[in-house]
Amino acid sequence: MIMRRILSIPYENSQIALEMGDITESDAEAIVNAANSSLMGGGGVDGAIHAAAGPEMDEELTSIRRERYAGGLPAGQAVMTRGYRLRSKYVIHTVGPIWRGGHDNEDETLANAYRNSLELSAENGIHDVAFPAISTGVYGFPFDRAERIALETVLSFLREKKKERYVIRFVFYTEKNTQEFLRILKEYGIYKGNE
Ligand code: ADP
Repeated sequence: MIMRRILSIPYENSQIALEMGDITESDAEAIVNAANSSLMGGGGVDGAIHAAAGPEMDEELTSIRRERYAGGLPAGQAVMTRGYRLRSKYVIHTVGPIWRGGHDNEDETLANAYRNSLELSAENGIHDVAFPAISTGVYGFPFDRAERIALETVLSFLREKKKERYVIRFVFYTEKNTQEFLRILKEYGIYKGNE
Protein backbone atom coordinates (compact mmCIF):
# COMPACT_ATOMS: atom_id res chain seq x y z
CA MET A 1 0.00 0.00 0.00
CA ILE A 2 1.34 3.38 -1.02
CA MET A 3 1.48 6.28 1.41
CA ARG A 4 -0.79 9.12 0.39
CA ARG A 5 -0.89 12.68 1.76
CA ILE A 6 -4.51 13.68 2.19
CA LEU A 7 -3.93 17.14 3.53
CA SER A 8 -1.56 19.37 5.42
CA ILE A 9 -2.83 22.17 7.62
CA PRO A 10 -0.82 24.99 9.17
CA TYR A 11 -0.95 25.25 12.96
CA GLU A 12 1.20 27.84 14.76
CA ASN A 13 4.52 27.61 12.83
CA SER A 14 3.99 23.92 12.18
CA GLN A 15 2.03 21.62 9.91
CA ILE A 16 -0.43 18.89 10.81
CA ALA A 17 -0.59 16.32 8.03
CA LEU A 18 -3.16 13.62 7.42
CA GLU A 19 -1.84 10.61 5.52
CA MET A 20 -3.23 7.24 4.55
CA GLY A 21 -1.26 4.07 4.02
CA ASP A 22 1.43 1.85 5.46
CA ILE A 23 3.54 3.82 7.94
CA THR A 24 6.58 1.66 7.09
CA GLU A 25 6.62 3.44 3.70
CA SER A 26 6.73 6.86 5.32
CA ASP A 27 9.50 9.34 4.52
CA ALA A 28 9.06 11.10 7.88
CA GLU A 29 12.28 11.64 9.81
CA ALA A 30 10.85 9.51 12.62
CA ILE A 31 7.93 7.13 12.72
CA VAL A 32 6.27 6.13 15.95
CA ASN A 33 5.69 2.46 16.70
CA ALA A 34 2.67 1.30 18.71
CA ALA A 35 4.88 -1.19 20.52
CA ASN A 36 4.14 -3.55 23.36
CA SER A 37 6.03 -3.57 26.66
CA SER A 38 8.35 -6.37 25.55
CA LEU A 39 9.72 -4.18 22.69
CA MET A 40 10.23 -7.43 20.82
CA GLY A 41 7.58 -6.87 18.17
CA GLY A 42 4.06 -8.15 17.80
CA GLY A 43 1.15 -7.94 15.40
CA GLY A 44 -0.32 -5.00 13.51
CA VAL A 45 1.78 -1.92 12.95
CA ASP A 46 4.43 -3.16 15.41
CA GLY A 47 5.03 -6.34 13.42
CA ALA A 48 5.14 -4.40 10.16
CA ILE A 49 7.72 -1.92 11.52
CA HIS A 50 9.94 -4.67 12.94
CA ALA A 51 9.82 -6.59 9.66
CA ALA A 52 10.60 -3.53 7.56
CA ALA A 53 13.38 -2.17 9.81
CA GLY A 54 15.19 -5.51 9.97
CA PRO A 55 17.01 -7.44 12.70
CA GLU A 56 19.38 -4.58 13.55
CA MET A 57 16.49 -2.75 15.19
CA ASP A 58 15.67 -5.82 17.28
CA GLU A 59 19.26 -5.92 18.45
CA GLU A 60 19.16 -2.29 19.51
CA LEU A 61 15.88 -2.87 21.33
CA THR A 62 17.30 -5.92 23.06
CA SER A 63 20.11 -3.78 24.52
CA ILE A 64 17.65 -1.06 25.55
CA ARG A 65 15.61 -3.67 27.38
CA ARG A 66 18.64 -5.17 29.05
CA GLU A 67 20.17 -1.85 30.08
CA ARG A 68 17.13 0.27 30.92
CA TYR A 69 13.86 -1.65 30.93
CA ALA A 70 14.41 -5.17 32.21
CA GLY A 71 10.75 -5.31 33.25
CA GLY A 72 9.57 -4.02 29.88
CA LEU A 73 8.70 -0.49 28.74
CA PRO A 74 5.77 0.80 30.83
CA ALA A 75 2.66 2.02 29.00
CA GLY A 76 2.85 5.74 28.23
CA GLN A 77 6.64 5.83 27.93
CA ALA A 78 8.80 6.02 24.80
CA VAL A 79 12.28 5.03 23.62
CA MET A 80 14.06 5.68 20.35
CA THR A 81 16.10 3.54 17.97
CA ARG A 82 17.48 4.06 14.50
CA GLY A 83 15.27 3.09 11.57
CA TYR A 84 17.79 0.83 9.82
CA ARG A 85 16.15 -0.49 6.61
CA LEU A 86 13.25 1.98 6.84
CA ARG A 87 13.21 5.26 4.96
CA SER A 88 12.80 6.95 8.34
CA LYS A 89 16.01 7.61 10.19
CA TYR A 90 14.45 6.94 13.59
CA VAL A 91 11.72 4.88 15.20
CA ILE A 92 10.13 6.02 18.44
CA HIS A 93 8.68 3.05 20.27
CA THR A 94 5.88 3.84 22.64
CA VAL A 95 3.42 1.61 24.46
CA GLY A 96 -0.21 2.63 24.39
CA PRO A 97 -2.73 1.48 26.98
CA ILE A 98 -4.83 -1.65 26.58
CA TRP A 99 -8.48 -0.53 26.68
CA ARG A 100 -10.14 -1.88 29.81
CA GLY A 101 -13.40 0.03 29.66
CA GLY A 102 -12.05 3.49 30.42
CA HIS A 103 -11.58 3.28 34.19
CA ASP A 104 -7.90 2.38 34.25
CA ASN A 105 -6.39 5.77 33.29
CA GLU A 106 -6.39 4.75 29.63
CA ASP A 107 -6.97 8.34 28.44
CA GLU A 108 -4.06 9.69 30.46
CA THR A 109 -1.76 6.84 29.47
CA LEU A 110 -2.55 7.38 25.79
CA ALA A 111 -1.89 11.12 26.11
CA ASN A 112 1.43 10.27 27.80
CA ALA A 113 2.40 7.98 24.91
CA TYR A 114 1.91 10.85 22.44
CA ARG A 115 3.46 13.45 24.73
CA ASN A 116 6.55 11.39 25.55
CA SER A 117 7.05 10.51 21.87
CA LEU A 118 6.93 14.20 20.98
CA GLU A 119 9.28 15.16 23.82
CA LEU A 120 11.76 12.49 22.76
CA SER A 121 11.66 13.82 19.20
CA ALA A 122 12.23 17.36 20.42
CA GLU A 123 15.16 16.31 22.61
CA ASN A 124 16.77 14.71 19.56
CA GLY A 125 16.16 17.63 17.22
CA ILE A 126 13.62 15.69 15.14
CA HIS A 127 10.96 17.91 13.59
CA ASP A 128 9.07 15.53 11.29
CA VAL A 129 7.21 12.73 13.07
CA ALA A 130 4.57 10.27 11.84
CA PHE A 131 2.13 8.64 14.27
CA PRO A 132 -0.08 5.59 13.71
CA ALA A 133 -3.38 5.37 15.61
CA ILE A 134 -1.85 4.04 18.82
CA SER A 135 -3.96 1.54 20.81
CA THR A 136 -6.86 1.52 18.35
CA GLY A 137 -6.14 -1.94 16.92
CA VAL A 138 -5.53 -5.02 19.03
CA TYR A 139 -5.45 -2.87 22.20
CA GLY A 140 -9.10 -2.00 21.61
CA PHE A 141 -9.17 1.74 22.43
CA PRO A 142 -12.26 3.29 20.78
CA PHE A 143 -10.98 5.08 17.69
CA ASP A 144 -12.79 8.39 18.01
CA ARG A 145 -11.89 8.81 21.66
CA ALA A 146 -8.25 7.87 21.01
CA GLU A 147 -7.83 10.27 18.11
CA ARG A 148 -9.30 13.21 19.99
CA ILE A 149 -6.70 12.61 22.70
CA ALA A 150 -3.99 12.23 20.05
CA LEU A 151 -4.98 15.48 18.35
CA GLU A 152 -5.33 17.47 21.59
CA THR A 153 -1.93 16.28 22.81
CA VAL A 154 -0.27 17.22 19.52
CA LEU A 155 -1.98 20.63 19.42
CA SER A 156 -0.92 21.47 22.95
CA PHE A 157 2.67 20.42 22.17
CA LEU A 158 2.71 22.60 19.04
CA ARG A 159 1.34 25.57 21.00
CA GLU A 160 4.13 25.16 23.55
CA LYS A 161 6.69 25.02 20.73
CA LYS A 162 5.06 27.74 18.72
CA LYS A 163 8.33 29.28 17.57
CA GLU A 164 9.46 25.98 16.06
CA ARG A 165 8.50 24.31 12.82
CA TYR A 166 7.27 20.74 13.17
CA VAL A 167 5.51 18.45 10.76
CA ILE A 168 3.33 16.04 12.71
CA ARG A 169 1.71 13.40 10.56
CA PHE A 170 -1.28 11.30 11.50
CA VAL A 171 -1.16 8.10 9.46
CA PHE A 172 -4.23 5.91 9.06
CA TYR A 173 -4.36 2.49 7.53
CA THR A 174 -7.96 2.51 6.39
CA GLU A 175 -10.14 4.89 4.42
CA LYS A 176 -12.73 4.70 7.21
CA ASN A 177 -10.28 5.83 9.90
CA THR A 178 -8.96 8.57 7.61
CA GLN A 179 -12.47 9.92 7.09
CA GLU A 180 -13.22 9.70 10.82
CA PHE A 181 -10.12 11.73 11.61
CA LEU A 182 -11.04 14.29 8.98
CA ARG A 183 -14.37 14.71 10.76
CA ILE A 184 -12.57 15.30 14.07
CA LEU A 185 -10.32 17.93 12.43
CA LYS A 186 -13.42 19.72 11.15
CA GLU A 187 -15.11 19.54 14.55
CA TYR A 188 -12.08 21.12 16.21
CA GLY A 189 -12.08 23.85 13.56
CA ILE A 190 -8.59 22.80 12.48
CA TYR A 191 -9.74 21.95 8.98
CA LYS A 192 -12.34 24.14 7.35
CA GLY A 193 -12.87 21.97 4.30
CA ASN A 194 -11.44 24.30 1.67
CA GLU A 195 -7.70 23.76 1.92
P1 ADP B 1 -2.30 -1.45 19.15
O1 ADP B 1 -1.82 -2.76 19.72
O2 ADP B 1 -1.60 -0.25 19.75
O3 ADP B 1 -3.78 -1.34 19.17
P2 ADP B 1 -2.29 -2.14 16.30
O4 ADP B 1 -1.11 -2.29 15.42
O5 ADP B 1 -3.11 -3.35 16.55
O6 ADP B 1 -1.75 -1.46 17.65
O7 ADP B 1 -3.23 -1.02 15.69
C1 ADP B 1 -3.00 0.36 15.78
C2 ADP B 1 -3.50 1.04 14.52
O8 ADP B 1 -2.52 0.87 13.51
C3 ADP B 1 -4.80 0.50 13.96
O9 ADP B 1 -5.65 1.60 13.70
C4 ADP B 1 -4.39 -0.19 12.67
O10 ADP B 1 -5.38 -0.03 11.67
C5 ADP B 1 -3.16 0.59 12.29
N1 ADP B 1 -2.17 -0.11 11.45
C6 ADP B 1 -1.94 -1.44 11.32
N2 ADP B 1 -0.91 -1.66 10.48
C7 ADP B 1 -0.49 -0.44 10.05
C8 ADP B 1 0.53 0.01 9.15
N3 ADP B 1 1.34 -0.84 8.52
N4 ADP B 1 0.66 1.36 8.95
C9 ADP B 1 -0.13 2.23 9.60
N5 ADP B 1 -1.10 1.88 10.46
C10 ADP B 1 -1.28 0.55 10.67
